[in-house]
Amino acid sequence: MNINKKRIIVLFSINVFIIVHILLWYKYGFQKVGTFSLNGIVNLFGFGLLNSAAVFFIIIVLLTVFFGRVFCGWGCHFAFFQELALKVLNKCGIYPSIIHSRANIIQYVFLLKTITAIFEFWYIYGLPQFHINIGDTQVMTSDLPRSPVIIALFILFDAFLFIYLMGSRAFCRYVCPWAPMLAIFENISFWRIRKISECTGCMSCTRSCTMGIAVHQEIARHGAVVNANCIRCLSCKNACQNGTLSYKWGVNVLSMTRKFRWLIPEVSNYNLYTELVIIFCGIIAAFYTQKYFGSFQTFLGAAWGLCFAVIIFKILERKSVKISEPVLRKRKLLALSLIMLSTLAWCRGTLVPPETRLLMRGNRFIDIMEYDKAILTYTNALNEYPSNKQIRSALALAYKNNGNYEKAIIEYKALIAEDPENAVLRNNLGTVYYRKGDYDVAIEEYKRAILFDKSLTAAYGNIGLILLEKGNVEEAVYYLKNVFTTEEEMYQYLLTYYGSKQGQI
Ligand code: SF4
Ligand code: SF4
Ligand code: SF4
Repeated sequence: MNINKKRIIVLFSINVFIIVHILLWYKYGFQKVGTFSLNGIVNLFGFGLLNSAAVFFIIIVLLTVFFGRVFCGWGCHFAFFQELALKVLNKCGIYPSIIHSRANIIQYVFLLKTITAIFEFWYIYGLPQFHINIGDTQVMTSDLPRSPVIIALFILFDAFLFIYLMGSRAFCRYVCPWAPMLAIFENISFWRIRKISECTGCMSCTRSCTMGIAVHQEIARHGAVVNANCIRCLSCKNACQNGTLSYKWGVNVLSMTRKFRWLIPEVSNYNLYTELVIIFCGIIAAFYTQKYFGSFQTFLGAAWGLCFAVIIFKILERKSVKISEPVLRKRKLLALSLIMLSTLAWCRGTLVPPETRLLMRGNRFIDIMEYDKAILTYTNALNEYPSNKQIRSALALAYKNNGNYEKAIIEYKALIAEDPENAVLRNNLGTVYYRKGDYDVAIEEYKRAILFDKSLTAAYGNIGLILLEKGNVEEAVYYLKNVFTTEEEMYQYLLTYYGSKQGQI
């Protein structure tokens, strides 16, 4: 079987695994492994947390050090959609040419932004303390593309349109931040495409390369493919009828490390001003998409911005405005400055406000049940930002969890005085009274909560529980009916409740 077919089958299987995982997640509650994204880096270096995402990151890095970017060739779920898009376009008689541009500096901006998040975590939570909790990952939150619409948009823009305009694997070459990160390790990888016999210069290898690498030139210059964009797909080896290429271990790896090769292309299809406009559009669209639709959608925004700019330039080109002229440039300083400036602007635009930072620091203490530290953090924060309701509410919660009910009541009452119809606050106050043992006052507060929000099931459940404890089963059932969707579920709850009581007795 052709190597590319084998690869497509592998990539397809990965997507099948992902679908199975999602089904297990939502249908059967198997919530052990969360997202495998660049979050792993932030979790590991920001928090010191070794979770599944961090393990995944370590495995991919090790794989790359030895075998190059095999993950990109054979293991990435989105690679499948990109390959599929290209196949579909080819079937329709469309053969997009591979466009090279330094607009791929956007990938570096994304990567640097991820790295700056690590420092932000240090600033908020202090230096990381190493701990292992494989299942503690940021899981399928609303921030991740679980919506079918978002998935469809990703496939449409980041795969189909992007490839149509910029050529094969455009997402990998322009947007994905994994690419520049893995490129660092790719530079020292031992296994790579190497020349093992004479080359006839037929260029079949170059024509077959998924990533647009001039394979024949690489092997002529270096005896191996050293371009960090090589994803070890082995298409070139497969295409070479002469048997010139082999994917093998080599000892010349050290000489390669002397000259790190980054992903910024040496040859560009656009002139400098065109590239600057494309970069600007990509970054601005990515920034605002992240701001309004969540961080994962950044990649969608980048594709929108890039595609928009490229379409505009294509239209201008048709009107004979000269914007694309293949130029060979080595303006590393310019590329570097653009990356740094864009990252700084991005960081400035998404800077967490100081009061939110203090709130997050306190919340972290709550998460690890260090309530005294949380209380101290919130109290200090309130000295600086006395009108911040979120911090006051968090302080009340910290007092409640710490068993300091009188102070919790004072804080909740202060909040309620400013927002008397806030059902959640009243429900929380009720819970403080409940914990204190003032059942009747607690019920009063829960009832007030229901008055302002009839759909607040927590309040119904809390009243039901107190009434059960008071032995008033009939009235408890009246309230519990609002919590459960079926009577069967409610009776199951009652059985469990009385079962545990019997156990206690
Ligand atoms: S560069 Fe990114 S999208 Fe492309 S294959 Fe690698 S990880 Fe996947
Ligand atoms: S396909 Fe083989 S023979 Fe032809 S240029 Fe590439 S390496 Fe040389
Ligand atoms: S150089 Fe060969 S192995 Fe590397 S990406 Fe191109 S075709 Fe694939």
